[in-house]
Amino acid sequence: MARRGTTEQDVLNIVMNAGECGVIQSELWKTITADSREGSRAILRLERKKLIQRKKELFDGRWTYRVSAKRRIPKVATIIAIPCSFCDFDNRCSDAGTVSPNKCNKLTFWLTTLVINNSE
Ligand code: SF4
Repeated sequence: MARRGTTEQDVLNIVMNAGECGVIQSELWKTITADSREGSRAILRLERKKLIQRKKELFDGRWTYRVSAKRRIPKVATIIAIPCSFCDFDNRCSDAGTVSPNKCNKLTFWLTTLVINNSE
C-alpha cells in the first residue's frame, strides 16, 4: 500500500530537481507512478501550500501547465558565499555574545548586497 503523501513528495522532488525551467504537467505523469487524477490532486495540494506554481502553456499542440518550484534547492556556491560558512568566529558567535550576528559587519554587508542585487 502506498504511503500517504508519497505522490505529493514525488511530484515536489521532480519539480524541484527540474530547476528554473520546471516540468510540463502532462510529462510529469510519465515520470511518477501515479495517474493524472492522483497527480493533479497532489499538484493542487502543493500549489495551495505555495510550494509550486503553474503557468499555462501550449505544449505539442495542447494546453497544459508548466510546473515549477517556488523554492529552489540551494546550490553549494550560494552556501559558500555566506560569510558564516568559513568564519573564524563561528564557534564563538551567538545572539548574546560579544561576537554576534547582530553586530557583524561581514554579515550585514553580505545581506545588504543580497537585497540590492535581488531588487534590481
Ligand atoms: S555572524 Fe559574522 S562573526 Fe558571526 S559567524 Fe557569521 S560572519 Fe562570523
